[in-house]
Amino acid sequence: MKNIFTDLQLVNLKTGQCTSGCALVVEDGRFVEITSTPGEGETISLNGGFVLPGLIDAHVHLVWEGQPDPAQYTITESPVMTSYRAARSAWQNLAGGVTTVRDVGGPHNIPIELAKAVKQGIVPGSRILAAGAGIAQTGGHGYFMCREADGFDEIRKAVREQVKAGADLIKLMCSGGAYTQGESIHAMQFSDKEIHIAVQTAKAAGKKVAAHALPDLAVKTCLEAGVDTIEHAALINDKSLHLFKRTGAFMVPTLAPYYLMATQGAEYGVPNYAVIKSQQVMEQYITSLKKVVSTGVNLALGTDAGSPQLPHPALPYEAWLWYKEAGLDPLTILKAATQGSAWALGLEHELGEIKRGYLADFVVYEKNPVEEITALHYPQYVYKEGQLAAGASVIWSVSLLHS
Ligand SMILES: [Zn+2]
Repeated sequence: MKNIFTDLQLVNLKTGQCTSGCALVVEDGRFVEITSTPGEGETISLNGGFVLPGLIDAHVHLVWEGQPDPAQYTITESPVMTSYRAARSAWQNLAGGVTTVRDVGGPHNIPIELAKAVKQGIVPGSRILAAGAGIAQTGGHGYFMCREADGFDEIRKAVREQVKAGADLIKLMCSGGAYTQGESIHAMQFSDKEIHIAVQTAKAAGKKVAAHALPDLAVKTCLEAGVDTIEHAALINDKSLHLFKRTGAFMVPTLAPYYLMATQGAEYGVPNYAVIKSQQVMEQYITSLKKVVSTGVNLALGTDAGSPQLPHPALPYEAWLWYKEAGLDPLTILKAATQGSAWALGLEHELGEIKRGYLADFVVYEKNPVEEITALHYPQYVYKEGQLAAGASVIWSVSLLHS
């Protein structure tokens, strides 16, 4: 069926300009034309709203919902219960305008199964690319919901197990982080050779690799090994920025969880070790993010949605932090949240732009997010593959969940 969307202002994320007077023609879930003379078909007015491509969050954990200590219930709760939570998170992302997410870690491979359920139309939600269980060294970062593996053979096997389970990508834990007790954020995890073997094994299966890495040494080692995205990259120096440029890898900064834990974590009941580690990270994190933009490193927008105090969708909040704390301009932020993330996920030929032949994922806003980044909090309509996924009343009820 052919649908013609009219009465809209199309936001051009290359120039920041808006075009009115054009119509989006959608057929079989894809944009077939962007034109001022759309011809016959069912016409749908978007009430003069500003239209952006569907947003893409490149780093979420659907199994978490913003609880103070995600590790605690990930260990104690039944996989069935955790699956219900994940399904709700996928729906909340969609209703918030985040039409695609990349899930970089959940127990029992729940995100992989949920991705299939959404694809088959069993539950409504954002399109999901899922790593399933991350791979960590014994006792490494997030081990409580990872596949632990040590040594070359075991790491090879762990990657192959994830591929067999249907993972879209491989997630490696290559340094310490905030939530895991007893590890330093400065500590490298896995040896150089282990990381190389994991990446080689993943590439042989045609899978991209996302590496959790905060300190400079871990970031450099992962980039040299050929990973596709570095998650967080909070403590980096100029040399690794150049290495990003040389390899073409994407950086996926996630300011929100560290910012929230550092500033409000103690009163929210976040474990003390996580609060302290987040406070240690914040200042350098913001300085690095400013440099990333001036260096022209490939940037995708991720959030760590689901982390303490950060329910889904977290993308509008992360975007606001990039603007307010790191001083990035809205166009850079919105490009990272659409085209940048699409490239990082390997979906650059289908998503991230409003373009002929691309999947018809788009979001309509009353105010222009290029002029006011906080407009991302208030989508009016969300369309996924040309179908209305959520309208204002549903979106408001989802936002009430977070108030
Ligand atoms: Zn994460």
